[in-house]
Formats: sequence, structure tokens, C-alpha cells
Amino acid sequence: MYDLLLIRYGEIGTKGKNRHVFEQRLQANIQAALKSLGIEEVERAHARLYVPLQANLEDMVKRLERVFGISSFSPVVRVPLDVQAIEAAALEVVAANLREKQLDGSKLTFKVNTRRANKGFPVTSPIMSRDLGALLLQEFPQLSVDVHEPELTLEVEIREHYSYVYTEKIPGPGGLPVGVSGRGVLLLSGGIDSPVAGYRMMKRGVAPIAVHFHSYPFTSERSKEKVLDLARVLSTYGGPIPVHVVHFTEIQKAINEFCPGKLMITIMRRMMLRIAEAIARQQGAAALITGESLGQVASQTMESIIATNAVVQLPVFRPLIGADKMEIVDLAERIGTYKLSIQPYEDCCTIFVPRHPETHPKLPEVEKAERKLPVKALIEEALARTEVILCGEDQIFR
Ligand code: ATP
Ligand code: MG
Repeated sequence: MYDLLLIRYGEIGTKGKNRHVFEQRLQANIQAALKSLGIEEVERAHARLYVPLQANLEDMVKRLERVFGISSFSPVVRVPLDVQAIEAAALEVVAANLREKQLDGSKLTFKVNTRRANKGFPVTSPIMSRDLGALLLQEFPQLSVDVHEPELTLEVEIREHYSYVYTEKIPGPGGLPVGVSGRGVLLLSGGIDSPVAGYRMMKRGVAPIAVHFHSYPFTSERSKEKVLDLARVLSTYGGPIPVHVVHFTEIQKAINEFCPGKLMITIMRRMMLRIAEAIARQQGAAALITGESLGQVASQTMESIIATNAVVQLPVFRPLIGADKMEIVDLAERIGTYKLSIQPYEDCCTIFVPRHPETHPKLPEVEKAERKLPVKALIEEALARTEVILCGEDQIFR
């Protein structure tokens, strides 16, 4: 019966002159998300998007629920701007709802809600709702009207070229279409936090490029696979993600050799940020993203953040800075990264780590401790050995 999904977008409708950029991106992202279902066509008209309902509805819903920028969507019947056609559609939609709810015999309360965006249409919204209500009451004796808390609401939208009749509104994920805010380099570990941080920034329209620091052979091949799997989960929210796997072993060995143990983590972090920034500049990314949360561990105190931040010019986004671990875990579970994150594979940060790391490192002290470290050469070598793996190739979002 339903022939289309009508898709609404919230926040991006308010972006003034840039609006068409947002709309085009959302349109392209929806197209990419539905491509594997054989749906190619996404129509855009007057602040709404429409896709043909040519695949299993559940499969389409699963994909659209992950496309940022969508505020809600509805399976609809599209009919011409004609009262009789609207009436016929209303009868069909309500009959189908009653069948589906298996309420052929028992009572159901309802109301009709009409929105007339097209002021050229001759019948006003209240009249349309009233007349349709009367028609439905006549046709289905089990219905009664309740305008305050109806069990069923029949929605009628009268727009520029067509009218739409429907009952269901499925919430979208909100946010901004991935890509409209530019690119960001996500420091992706195999932990719980950084995938969630990536998700949060994707929700604000950032297209992530992931960087993972790997300490083979101290960390296993499987720990790298785990990170690639995490990137694949993230890719279902915004398309393929390139993962730059940086060989970090030599850097860790050098830090271990040249720097005091208690500053090891701070210096490791500084090396990570420097390399991430170099990759960002290569790839045209304008920000770095980490999963840090204030005070969570020694390397995430204010002093530690000052000492690590000092080596980069690009802004470092830390979307979880004010989040509790439980909140992060909840979100990780919801977005589907948690189960992967808790697989017990070692991270490079756990190698060579001192028992008593400095929780309040002073920047001048850190700079002094780093003096013997051949920073530039180490970075160049690590960049040269970096391997790039595209994760989530089956969906082309951008
Ligand atoms: P996560 O759960 O994201 O690993 P964490 O609580 O374990 O975070 P840290 O190990 O201190 O915290 O790492 C802080 C941040 O530094 C991470 O969120 C991530 O952005 C980055 N990071 C840590 N280790 C790596 C790594 N091996 N590769 C890439 N980024 C990393
Ligand atoms: Mg970690």
C-alpha cells in the first residue's frame, strides 16, 4: 500500500544560505545507505526527501536510523492534490492499520491531523480533518474520536505537488549529515571510549579518518583487527573510514630509552598527537578527535591535557570530556561497539608503562625530558611505515 518513505530533517533546515549544501549531502548519504538494497533514487522537494519503498521496510528502517541529519521518517501513500484521492487513501491506510492491529472487531480511538503546506489547495486543514474524520467514522464502526490521546492518528500533508497520507512516524538519529562539517582525524584505540567519541563527532557532521597506533610485535595482529572491526561498525553511520595504522614500536622503544619513566605516557601521547596532526594535514582534516574524559586516568588530568595539547596547532575535539564511564558504556552498547571494545587484546599504551605515571606533569619538565628524543626522525619513519586500510567498503557515503 505505502509507496514511499517521506524523510524529514530537522536542524539542517535552519542553515540559511548553506541549506542546499546540507540537503545535497543528506540526499547523497541516504542514497549511499540504501544502495545495497537496490534503491538508487532519492527525490528532494521542498524540505523533504522521498525514497521509493522498494525493499523490505525493516531493512530500510535499519539503515535510515543511522543516517545523521534525519529527524524522522514515515511510510506514506502519495496521491494527487485532490479531495477524493485523499479520501480513498485515508480509507486504505486506516483499514490497513486496523488489520495490522487485528482490531477488526474491537474499539479504537483516532483523530485526523491535516497540514496544508500548499495554501493554494482549496480546503483548509480543519475542514479537511473534520470531513475525513466523519468519513472514517461512517466506514469503520469500531472507531471513535479522541483528539487528546488517540490510539491512531491519521496524518494528511498537503504539499506543493502531492498529498501524503500516513499514520506512523519513525524517529531518525538527528544530528548533521556526515561530511558537512569537514574531516577530522580520530585517534582510534581498541578501547571503549574512542569509538564513541568518533560516533559523537560523526553525529555533528564530521567525516572521520582514523589513526591507530600499533606496537607490533608487542601487540598482536588480532588487536589491530579489533580496531578495524570497530571502524567497520562506525562506518555503518557514515560510510567507509580509512584507518591509518601507524607502527609505534620504535617510538615507544626510543621513549623508553631516552625519557624518564614517569613521563613516558605523556610523551607517548605527545608523539601520537604530532603524528595524528601530520596525517590530518596530509588528508585535509581540520581537527583531531580523542576519547579522553577528564580525570579518567593519569593521562587525562588537566595538566596532562595541557602537556599533550601543547604540541599541536589543530583543535583537539574531546566530545567525552564531561562524560562518566557509565554514560560512555551505555552509548557504546547502543551504537554496537561495546562488545568489540571489551575483547581482551592489549593496547600499545599498556606496553612499557610505568607503575607510577606522573598525574600532574609540568609542561617545561616534559619538554626538557623530551630533548634527547629524535622527534622529527621518529615521526618521519613512523609515517613512512603507515598502512592505510579502508573499512566498510560496501557502502559508499562520500
Ligand atoms: P579508549 O577507551 O578510547 O582507549 P582510554 O580510556 O583507554 O580510551 P587512554 O588509553 O588514555 O584512554 O587513551 C586516551 C585517548 O587516546 C583514546 O581515547 C584515544 O583517542 C587515544 N589513544 C589511546 N591509545 C591509542 C592507540 N593505540 N591508537 C590511537 N589512539 C589511541
Ligand atoms: Mg585506551
